Amino acid sequence: MNKLNDKVAIITGSARGIGFSIAEKLATNGATSVIIDLDQQAVDLAVQKIDDQGFRAIGFAANVTDQEQITSIFKEIYEEFDAVDILINNAGITKDGLIMKMKEDDWDSVINVNLKGTFICTQKICRFMMKKRSGVILNIASVIGLMGNAGQANYAASKGGIIAFTKSSAKEFASRNIRVNAIAPGFIQTEMTENLSQEVVDNYTAAIPLSRMGSADDVANLCLFLVSDDASYITGQTIQVDGGLIM
Ligand code: NAP
Repeated sequence: MNKLNDKVAIITGSARGIGFSIAEKLATNGATSVIIDLDQQAVDLAVQKIDDQGFRAIGFAANVTDQEQITSIFKEIYEEFDAVDILINNAGITKDGLIMKMKEDDWDSVINVNLKGTFICTQKICRFMMKKRSGVILNIASVIGLMGNAGQANYAASKGGIIAFTKSSAKEFASRNIRVNAIAPGFIQTEMTENLSQEVVDNYTAAIPLSRMGSADDVANLCLFLVSDDASYITGQTIQVDGGLIM
C-alpha cells in the first residue's frame, strides 16, 4: 500500500528543481500532485513527465504572491477532490547583493515571493484543512535562514522568517490536527545553484562534512516522510538536509 494513497498534495514552484522532485516523489507514492508554477508551458511539461510514468498530476500556472489567483485555484482543487491534504510551500527566489548596495526591489521581491507567498498559500489552504480537521503543511526554508550569509541578507531574512512562521502556524493549527514543519536544505544541485562559479562550489563542498552537494531527491525523501503518517507526532520542527554543513 502506498504511503499517500488518495491524498492531494499542492506543491508551489514545482515545475522544476526541488519542487518537481517533491511532486514526483509524492505522486509515485500514491498522491495526486498539484503543480503550481509561473509558466504554463513549464507546468504542462512537469505534469506530462509525471503522467508519462503512470502517476497522477494536475497543474496550474500561478504566482504565489497573487492572492486572488491562489484563492481561486485552491477552491477549485478543494471542490474537485473534496480535500486538500498536503501543502508544500516551495516556491522561492534569490536576488543576491551586499546590504550596502541592495536595491529596495531586490529586498521586496525576495521577501514577497519567499515569505509572503508562504503566508498567502498557508492562509488560503488552512480553512479547507480546518474544515476537515486534518492536513500537513511543509515549508521549504534554507540553512541560510539559520546561519545567515554575506550577500544574501534578503534571502536569509525570508528563510529565517519562514522558520518562525512555521513554529507559529504549528502552534495555531495543532488543535485542528494540522501539522506544520520546515525543511532547511543546504547546498542542493538545481538551476538555482548551477550558475555559481566552480570556486564557490569548491568552497562550499569543502565545508560540507559529507563532501558533496545534495540532490533534489535528498530533499524529496525527507519531504515524503514528513507529510506521511510516519511523522504524525512531529510538528513545528525545522529539519536540515545539508550533509552536516551546520550542526
Ligand atoms: P529553482 O530551481 O529556481 O525552482 C524554483 C521554482 O519556483 C521555479 O520553477 C520558479 O519559476 C518557481 N517560482 C519562482 N517564483 C515563483 C512565484 N512567485 N510563484 C510560483 N512559482 C515561482 O529553485 P530550487 O533550487 O528548486 O529551490 C526550491 C526551494 O528550495 C526554494 O524555496 C529555495 O529557496 C529552496 N532552497 C534551495 C536550495 C538549493 O541549493 N537549490 C537550498 C536551500 C533552499 P521560474 O522558473 O519561472 O522562475
